Amino acid sequence: MSGGRDVYIVGNWKMNQSLEEIDSFLNQISTLNSNNHAWIAPQALHISKCLEKKPGFLKVGSQNCAHEDSGAFTGELSPKSLKEIGVHFTLIGHSERRSLYGEGDDLLYKKTLKALENNLYVIFCIGETLEEREAGKVEEVLSEQLSNGLRDINSKNVLIAYEPVWAIGTGVTASPEQASDAHKFIRNFIKENMKLDSQTTPILYGGSVKPENIKELLSNEDIDGGLVGGASLKADSYINLHKNA
Ligand code: PEP
Repeated sequence: MSGGRDVYIVGNWKMNQSLEEIDSFLNQISTLNSNNHAWIAPQALHISKCLEKKPGFLKVGSQNCAHEDSGAFTGELSPKSLKEIGVHFTLIGHSERRSLYGEGDDLLYKKTLKALENNLYVIFCIGETLEEREAGKVEEVLSEQLSNGLRDINSKNVLIAYEPVWAIGTGVTASPEQASDAHKFIRNFIKENMKLDSQTTPILYGGSVKPENIKELLSNEDIDGGLVGGASLKADSYINLHKNA
Protein backbone atom coordinates (compact mmCIF):
# COMPACT_ATOMS: atom_id res chain seq x y z
CA MET A 1 0.00 0.00 0.00
CA SER A 2 1.17 3.55 -0.50
CA GLY A 3 0.13 7.19 -0.52
CA GLY A 4 -0.27 7.19 3.26
CA ARG A 5 -3.45 5.13 3.05
CA ASP A 6 -4.51 2.98 6.00
CA VAL A 7 -4.68 -0.82 5.90
CA TYR A 8 -7.99 -2.64 6.42
CA ILE A 9 -8.38 -6.28 7.42
CA VAL A 10 -12.06 -7.05 6.90
CA GLY A 11 -13.55 -10.42 7.80
CA ASN A 12 -16.62 -11.55 5.86
CA TRP A 13 -18.06 -14.34 7.96
CA LYS A 14 -20.85 -15.10 5.45
CA MET A 15 -23.45 -17.52 6.94
CA ASN A 16 -21.03 -19.06 9.46
CA GLN A 17 -20.17 -19.05 13.18
CA SER A 18 -22.12 -20.29 16.20
CA LEU A 19 -22.71 -18.14 19.28
CA GLU A 20 -20.01 -20.11 21.07
CA GLU A 21 -17.53 -19.57 18.23
CA ILE A 22 -18.26 -15.85 18.28
CA ASP A 23 -17.61 -15.66 22.04
CA SER A 24 -14.35 -17.48 21.62
CA PHE A 25 -13.29 -15.29 18.65
CA LEU A 26 -14.05 -12.03 20.48
CA ASN A 27 -12.29 -13.16 23.67
CA GLN A 28 -9.19 -14.22 21.79
CA ILE A 29 -8.82 -11.06 19.73
CA SER A 30 -9.40 -8.70 22.65
CA THR A 31 -5.66 -8.22 23.13
CA LEU A 32 -4.90 -7.72 19.43
CA ASN A 33 -2.63 -4.74 19.08
CA SER A 34 -2.67 -3.75 15.43
CA ASN A 35 -2.07 -0.57 13.45
CA ASN A 36 -4.55 -1.77 10.86
CA HIS A 37 -8.30 -1.25 10.86
CA ALA A 38 -9.98 -4.40 12.21
CA TRP A 39 -13.46 -4.92 10.76
CA ILE A 40 -15.77 -7.96 10.71
CA ALA A 41 -19.13 -8.64 9.06
CA PRO A 42 -21.00 -11.42 10.88
CA GLN A 43 -24.33 -12.78 9.68
CA ALA A 44 -27.13 -10.32 10.45
CA LEU A 45 -28.54 -12.37 13.33
CA HIS A 46 -25.21 -12.07 15.16
CA ILE A 47 -24.52 -8.38 14.67
CA SER A 48 -26.02 -7.30 18.00
CA LYS A 49 -24.11 -9.93 19.92
CA CYS A 50 -20.85 -8.86 18.29
CA LEU A 51 -21.58 -5.20 19.06
CA GLU A 52 -22.26 -6.08 22.68
CA LYS A 53 -19.14 -8.17 23.24
CA LYS A 54 -16.56 -6.67 20.91
CA PRO A 55 -13.35 -4.96 21.98
CA GLY A 56 -13.40 -1.20 21.33
CA PHE A 57 -11.08 -1.25 18.31
CA LEU A 58 -13.17 -3.76 16.33
CA LYS A 59 -15.77 -2.35 13.92
CA VAL A 60 -18.79 -4.44 13.05
CA GLY A 61 -20.49 -4.40 9.66
CA SER A 62 -23.34 -5.93 7.73
CA GLN A 63 -22.97 -8.18 4.70
CA ASN A 64 -25.87 -6.46 2.94
CA CYS A 65 -28.34 -3.63 3.36
CA ALA A 66 -31.56 -2.51 1.71
CA HIS A 67 -32.02 0.35 -0.76
CA GLU A 68 -34.68 1.97 1.46
CA ASP A 69 -34.81 2.88 5.15
CA SER A 70 -38.16 1.20 5.85
CA GLY A 71 -41.21 -0.29 4.21
CA ALA A 72 -42.51 -3.48 2.64
CA PHE A 73 -39.22 -5.26 2.03
CA THR A 74 -39.62 -8.61 3.75
CA GLY A 75 -36.34 -10.14 4.85
CA GLU A 76 -34.26 -7.02 4.15
CA LEU A 77 -31.94 -5.05 6.44
CA SER A 78 -32.66 -1.37 6.92
CA PRO A 79 -29.52 0.82 6.67
CA LYS A 80 -31.15 3.25 9.09
CA SER A 81 -31.68 0.47 11.66
CA LEU A 82 -28.18 -0.87 11.10
CA LYS A 83 -26.78 2.57 11.89
CA GLU A 84 -29.07 2.92 14.87
CA ILE A 85 -27.70 -0.22 16.55
CA GLY A 86 -24.09 0.81 15.98
CA VAL A 87 -23.09 -0.87 12.72
CA HIS A 88 -20.07 0.81 11.12
CA PHE A 89 -20.09 -0.44 7.53
CA THR A 90 -21.85 -2.63 5.02
CA LEU A 91 -20.69 -4.76 2.14
CA ILE A 92 -22.57 -4.02 -1.07
CA GLY A 93 -22.46 -6.08 -4.25
CA HIS A 94 -20.58 -9.10 -2.96
CA SER A 95 -20.42 -11.56 -5.86
CA GLU A 96 -22.61 -14.00 -3.91
CA ARG A 97 -25.32 -11.32 -3.70
CA ARG A 98 -24.90 -10.57 -7.39
CA SER A 99 -24.95 -14.17 -8.59
CA LEU A 100 -27.20 -15.99 -6.08
CA TYR A 101 -29.73 -13.21 -5.45
CA GLY A 102 -29.62 -11.43 -8.79
CA GLU A 103 -28.56 -8.05 -7.43
CA GLY A 104 -27.72 -5.82 -10.38
CA ASP A 105 -25.92 -2.52 -10.79
CA ASP A 106 -28.99 -0.26 -10.44
CA LEU A 107 -30.07 -1.82 -7.17
CA LEU A 108 -26.49 -1.77 -5.88
CA TYR A 109 -26.23 1.92 -6.72
CA LYS A 110 -29.43 2.64 -4.76
CA LYS A 111 -28.20 0.56 -1.82
CA THR A 112 -24.92 2.46 -1.80
CA LEU A 113 -26.65 5.84 -1.82
CA LYS A 114 -28.91 4.85 1.08
CA ALA A 115 -26.10 3.37 3.13
CA LEU A 116 -24.00 6.52 2.67
CA GLU A 117 -26.99 8.72 3.48
CA ASN A 118 -27.15 6.83 6.80
CA ASN A 119 -23.44 7.42 7.44
CA LEU A 120 -22.45 3.81 7.01
CA TYR A 121 -19.13 3.07 5.32
CA VAL A 122 -19.63 1.02 2.15
CA ILE A 123 -17.32 -1.68 0.87
CA PHE A 124 -18.42 -1.91 -2.75
CA CYS A 125 -17.40 -5.27 -4.25
CA ILE A 126 -16.51 -5.78 -7.89
CA GLY A 127 -14.81 -8.55 -9.83
CA GLU A 128 -14.90 -10.71 -12.93
CA THR A 129 -15.83 -14.36 -13.36
CA LEU A 130 -13.38 -16.88 -14.81
CA GLU A 131 -15.25 -16.88 -18.14
CA GLU A 132 -14.97 -13.09 -18.30
CA ARG A 133 -11.25 -13.23 -17.52
CA GLU A 134 -10.66 -15.91 -20.15
CA ALA A 135 -12.57 -13.83 -22.68
CA GLY A 136 -10.25 -10.88 -21.99
CA LYS A 137 -13.05 -8.83 -20.44
CA VAL A 138 -11.59 -7.97 -17.02
CA GLU A 139 -11.30 -4.23 -17.63
CA GLU A 140 -14.68 -4.03 -19.34
CA VAL A 141 -16.41 -5.77 -16.41
CA LEU A 142 -14.67 -3.70 -13.75
CA SER A 143 -15.36 -0.41 -15.50
CA GLU A 144 -19.04 -1.27 -15.94
CA GLN A 145 -19.47 -2.34 -12.34
CA LEU A 146 -17.77 0.85 -11.14
CA SER A 147 -19.47 3.32 -13.42
CA ASN A 148 -22.93 1.80 -12.96
CA GLY A 149 -22.75 0.97 -9.27
CA LEU A 150 -20.94 4.05 -8.02
CA ARG A 151 -21.86 6.47 -10.84
CA ASP A 152 -21.76 10.04 -9.52
CA ILE A 153 -20.86 9.16 -5.95
CA ASN A 154 -18.30 11.32 -4.25
CA SER A 155 -17.78 10.15 -0.68
CA LYS A 156 -14.87 9.47 1.62
CA ASN A 157 -16.91 6.61 3.11
CA VAL A 158 -16.56 4.34 0.09
CA LEU A 159 -14.02 1.52 -0.05
CA ILE A 160 -13.75 -0.75 -3.07
CA ALA A 161 -13.03 -4.47 -2.87
CA TYR A 162 -11.65 -6.14 -5.98
CA GLU A 163 -12.67 -9.78 -5.69
CA PRO A 164 -12.10 -11.96 -8.74
CA VAL A 165 -15.04 -14.36 -8.49
CA TRP A 166 -12.86 -17.34 -9.42
CA ALA A 167 -10.65 -16.68 -6.38
CA ILE A 168 -13.44 -16.46 -3.76
CA GLY A 169 -13.56 -19.50 -1.50
CA THR A 170 -11.58 -21.59 -3.98
CA GLY A 171 -8.14 -21.48 -2.41
CA VAL A 172 -6.86 -19.97 -5.67
CA THR A 173 -5.48 -16.48 -5.13
CA ALA A 174 -4.90 -14.02 -7.94
CA SER A 175 -1.19 -13.84 -8.68
CA PRO A 176 0.52 -10.68 -7.42
CA GLU A 177 0.67 -9.55 -11.06
CA GLN A 178 -3.04 -10.17 -11.73
CA ALA A 179 -3.99 -8.37 -8.52
CA SER A 180 -1.60 -5.54 -9.27
CA ASP A 181 -2.93 -5.04 -12.81
CA ALA A 182 -6.54 -4.97 -11.64
CA HIS A 183 -5.88 -2.60 -8.75
CA LYS A 184 -3.89 -0.22 -10.93
CA PHE A 185 -6.65 -0.29 -13.51
CA ILE A 186 -9.31 0.46 -10.86
CA ARG A 187 -7.37 3.38 -9.36
CA ASN A 188 -6.73 4.85 -12.76
CA PHE A 189 -10.31 4.33 -13.88
CA ILE A 190 -11.53 6.18 -10.79
CA LYS A 191 -9.10 8.99 -11.47
CA GLU A 192 -10.20 9.45 -15.05
CA ASN A 193 -13.89 8.68 -14.92
CA MET A 194 -15.36 9.00 -11.46
CA LYS A 195 -16.00 11.49 -8.68
CA LEU A 196 -14.37 9.38 -5.95
CA ASP A 197 -10.91 10.50 -4.91
CA SER A 198 -8.51 8.08 -6.58
CA GLN A 199 -5.69 8.80 -4.15
CA THR A 200 -7.59 8.33 -0.90
CA THR A 201 -10.18 5.66 -1.77
CA PRO A 202 -9.03 2.37 -0.20
CA ILE A 203 -9.00 -0.56 -2.63
CA LEU A 204 -8.99 -3.94 -0.90
CA TYR A 205 -8.24 -7.31 -2.49
CA GLY A 206 -10.44 -10.34 -1.77
CA GLY A 207 -10.14 -13.93 -2.90
CA SER A 208 -8.47 -16.61 -0.78
CA VAL A 209 -6.42 -14.15 1.27
CA LYS A 210 -4.60 -15.99 4.08
CA PRO A 211 -2.00 -15.16 6.71
CA GLU A 212 0.56 -16.78 4.36
CA ASN A 213 -0.11 -14.55 1.36
CA ILE A 214 -1.29 -11.24 2.83
CA LYS A 215 2.17 -9.74 3.08
CA GLU A 216 2.94 -10.26 -0.57
CA LEU A 217 -0.45 -8.93 -1.64
CA LEU A 218 -0.07 -5.83 0.50
CA SER A 219 3.40 -5.14 -0.81
CA ASN A 220 1.59 -3.92 -3.90
CA GLU A 221 1.28 -0.13 -3.81
CA ASP A 222 -2.37 -0.16 -4.89
CA ILE A 223 -3.65 -2.79 -2.44
CA ASP A 224 -4.85 -1.28 0.83
CA GLY A 225 -6.06 -4.36 2.68
CA GLY A 226 -7.96 -7.60 2.41
CA LEU A 227 -11.60 -8.67 2.38
CA VAL A 228 -11.23 -12.13 3.82
CA GLY A 229 -13.76 -14.97 4.05
CA GLY A 230 -12.53 -18.37 5.25
CA ALA A 231 -9.31 -17.17 6.87
CA SER A 232 -11.15 -14.63 9.03
CA LEU A 233 -13.32 -17.14 10.90
CA LYS A 234 -10.80 -18.33 13.48
CA ALA A 235 -9.27 -15.82 15.86
CA ASP A 236 -5.70 -17.08 15.49
CA SER A 237 -5.90 -16.77 11.72
CA TYR A 238 -7.50 -13.29 11.93
CA ILE A 239 -4.77 -12.21 14.36
CA ASN A 240 -2.08 -13.57 12.02
CA LEU A 241 -3.59 -11.65 9.09
CA HIS A 242 -2.99 -8.51 11.13
CA LYS A 243 0.47 -9.55 12.25
CA ASN A 244 1.61 -10.44 8.74
CA ALA A 245 -0.01 -7.49 6.96
C1 PEP B 1 -15.11 -13.22 0.52
O1 PEP B 1 -15.92 -13.74 1.26
O2 PEP B 1 -15.33 -12.09 0.10
C2 PEP B 1 -13.89 -13.97 0.20
C3 PEP B 1 -12.97 -13.38 -0.49
O3 PEP B 1 -13.80 -15.26 0.66
P1 PEP B 1 -12.45 -16.16 0.75
O4 PEP B 1 -11.44 -15.31 1.46
O5 PEP B 1 -12.86 -17.36 1.53
O6 PEP B 1 -12.03 -16.45 -0.65
